[in-house]
Amino acid sequence: MSEKNPKLTTADGAPIGRQQALTAGPRGPVLMQDVQLLEQMQHFNRERIPERVVHAKGSAAYGKLTITNDITQYTKADLFSKVGKETECFLRFSTVAGERGAADAERDVRGFAIKFYTDQGNWDLVGNNTPVFFIRDPYKFANFIHTQKRDPKTNLRDMDMQWDFWSQCPESLHQVTILFSDRGIPASYRHMNGYGSHTYSFINKNDERVWCKFHFKTKQGIKNLMDDEAAKMIGEDRETHQRDLFNAIERGEFPEWRFCVQIMTEKQADKFQWNPFDLTKVWPHADFPLIEVGTLQLNRNPENYHAEVEQAAFNPSALVPGIGASPDKMLQARLMSYADTHLYRVGVNYRQVPVNRPRCPVMNYERDGALADAQNYGGKPNYWPNTREGTPMPDEQFMDPAWNLGQVIVDRYDSTVDHDDFTQAGNLYRMFDDAHRDRLATRIAGVLGQARKEVQMLQICHFSRADEDYGRRVAEKLGIDVHAMQH
Ligand code: NDP
Repeated sequence: MSEKNPKLTTADGAPIGRQQALTAGPRGPVLMQDVQLLEQMQHFNRERIPERVVHAKGSAAYGKLTITNDITQYTKADLFSKVGKETECFLRFSTVAGERGAADAERDVRGFAIKFYTDQGNWDLVGNNTPVFFIRDPYKFANFIHTQKRDPKTNLRDMDMQWDFWSQCPESLHQVTILFSDRGIPASYRHMNGYGSHTYSFINKNDERVWCKFHFKTKQGIKNLMDDEAAKMIGEDRETHQRDLFNAIERGEFPEWRFCVQIMTEKQADKFQWNPFDLTKVWPHADFPLIEVGTLQLNRNPENYHAEVEQAAFNPSALVPGIGASPDKMLQARLMSYADTHLYRVGVNYRQVPVNRPRCPVMNYERDGALADAQNYGGKPNYWPNTREGTPMPDEQFMDPAWNLGQVIVDRYDSTVDHDDFTQAGNLYRMFDDAHRDRLATRIAGVLGQARKEVQMLQICHFSRADEDYGRRVAEKLGIDVHAMQH
């Protein structure tokens, strides 16, 4: 052993003399008292934490957001408080459906989850590389994810299950069209946009509220993979996107995104032709132009994947003064669900893990639980209200303004009626040139063809309602005569 090597120890810190099993004679058996060996095996058995139910395969990096444009007229959020302000952040990219070992270059939506360590607490923006989602009613979420995972009997991913669900939920058409478009397989995490997707609210220092959406436009340019390129890449390397991101940052090629917002006033929301809180819809740029706010740069790889990436926990409920929720039903459900899954996956004190820990002071009356950090607030009072000196107190300046909901009726509203599920999907289709439309229809037919005939027919009706040409092309590729369908 050289002088430079630190001493090998047990987890309790005792020096270890030799790393070989303690046995009765050179041929064994092993002694029960070989506590060094037992400790190692017991720890090994507990190395894994439950993988995320969705977004299991991820890659992440640290970076910073630099503010380039003043938007304090809309929000009092501290990270936007002045041009030039820098906020440290951590961005985790992921695929959605695949398990932890899934290949990176699969056709799938990509997660784009950012934690901003602001001076007034962590703000987590848990987005995707698409501006919309497959569903608008949270009751469908668990069901939708089941269809993206494995069939309960065959344990295979199942095209009939996926298309059966989508054909029953035409609100998915917009996102399905993006998924099977050329942007369905990004060439790397650096070459795609990110979107907060949900509608959020901004509150300014006068307590005025506007609705907002968040966009991250890649400065590397959009680059995608065609199916044959992706298949070849996956055959050679399942970790292409992880490798690309990690190596680019190691080379000092720091990826950047233009951070933009869209703003809608409450008055505009009343008149908007779609529900502004419907996660299956975008706000057209012509009506709600992108306002550039800053530059997001990634510039540092994590040191330890498990500690920093696997244990990273993003919650849409991590909001800061000046940024709030909206009535979006999917967002409302995620406000609970994401924090809840981390309580299960990482544990009750997951916010104390360094990657999740706010950089500003945290003071409250939450205590104890598994793996509470060693200090656990020491001897400070663990109850409130109290009359003790120096204990944390709420401050009314951070109250959100009251939210006037008018006269509302509580009900289980049918989220499938009175919604236009087709215009925006059609608008996207009409943006594509002829060759892109053809590739889209070919890809869809390739997988829809594996579903039952009645599912194919239903789905063709949805495509046709978005754009007649869309339905016709997919039907042709499936060998279905649309004219016969109409009679
Ligand atoms: P615009 O022409 O102003 O914007 C079109 C948008 O579509 C751009 O943001 C562009 O991104 C993006 N885009 C281009 N190809 C694809 C693709 N294959 N998949 C996903 N996005 C793509 O139009 P509108 O704002 O009026 O929207 C028209 C349609 O564009 C919408 O129905 C929606 O499907 C799509 N879209 C709209 C967005 C919005 O927030 N308004 C955001 C993203 C998509 P880029 O500029 O990076 O090339």
